[in-house]
Amino acid sequence: MNYSIPFNKPYITGKEVHYIYDAVATGKISGNGKYTQLCQNFFEERWGFKKTLLTTSCTDALEMCALLLDIKPGDEVIIPSYTFVSTALAFVRQGAKIVFADSRNDHPGIDEDKIEELITPKTKAIVPVHYAGVACDMDKIMDIANRYNLFVVEDAAQAIDSYFTGKDGIKRALGTIGHLSAFSFHETKNIQCGEGGLLGINDECFMKRAEIIWEKGTNRAEFFRGEVNKYGWVDVGSSFLPSEVTAAFLWAQFEDLDKIQQRRKLIWNLYHKMLSINQEEYQLPRPPAYSTNNAHMYYLVFNKASNRQKMIKFLSEKSIHSVFHYLSLHNSPYYIAKHDSRKLINSDFYSGSLLRLPLFLELSDETIKYISESIIDSFK
Ligand SMILES: *Cc1c(COP(=O)(O)O)cnc(C)c1O
Repeated sequence: MNYSIPFNKPYITGKEVHYIYDAVATGKISGNGKYTQLCQNFFEERWGFKKTLLTTSCTDALEMCALLLDIKPGDEVIIPSYTFVSTALAFVRQGAKIVFADSRNDHPGIDEDKIEELITPKTKAIVPVHYAGVACDMDKIMDIANRYNLFVVEDAAQAIDSYFTGKDGIKRALGTIGHLSAFSFHETKNIQCGEGGLLGINDECFMKRAEIIWEKGTNRAEFFRGEVNKYGWVDVGSSFLPSEVTAAFLWAQFEDLDKIQQRRKLIWNLYHKMLSINQEEYQLPRPPAYSTNNAHMYYLVFNKASNRQKMIKFLSEKSIHSVFHYLSLHNSPYYIAKHDSRKLINSDFYSGSLLRLPLFLELSDETIKYISESIIDSFK
């Protein structure tokens, strides 16, 4: 179906083709060239990562994390059930058993207070997801990880340019807190290149091996820096690095990051103001005080699932495309038989009741008002 107001329209700055042209003209369009370096340096300098590596997707970055942590059959990894398939899939491919955690009741993110009871001697890692770019309580998660000697991989796919302020009062960029993190530049994210991602490395012990895994198990990156005089096969790995064509596209987006973020936040705030008029049928997003909001997503949580379905239909009749989000992974056809029998009530609640509204840069104030008024009028 064609909607006159789509759910998403990837933003193009206009400079992408210019940088792609430049990349092509240099004659070197395989990975790890000038634009890859520009993108990685941007991330490292702006947000304080020890090291970053551009990848072909966030899924790939998560797969690199599973390799770096040496996840083996039988290892357990704690993941929220309310997330995208990739969060779990990357670890399942290494043979891990996924132990699904429930969401909080005031937010779709993982319930930090229910993590500890899921830990067993086989637990290797916790993978919090910063849903909608809203931080999980990283103080609680890092504290648990330190006490039980576990790794933390932040799924920061939606969390670019968002921050967590800890009890120490320090504001840290999401993705810089756990041992490793993964970002997405899929066309549905704030900063996009169609398909793309990035691995964030905060623990120095992973730096050297990450580069090797990234370059198909070879020490080619070291060779190109002149640190070794020949390169060869030294470890496992895959082809995780994108071409310079992708990196050039992405660089144009990074250059406009502030402009993109500013407009997205205005859109988010306008929805928030307009939709706060009626709060009997639904709840508005409530980012906790320790988190910033990067305006990745605007959503409503309906008190009744049937009202969410009615609203999708109602908006669709007005040619507005609104969408639901994740279906709990513990109930998925692929994993249901492997899941223990624990019920994850909040995760299932969000699966049935959360509605995402259109949010993209070209959305005008008038259109946002029209969407919001349509929602409010529908209850009259
Ligand atoms: C988008 C997304 C992913 C996957 O990102 P890709 O770049 O498409 O692989 C993983 N986890 C979460 C939470 C996401 O939102």
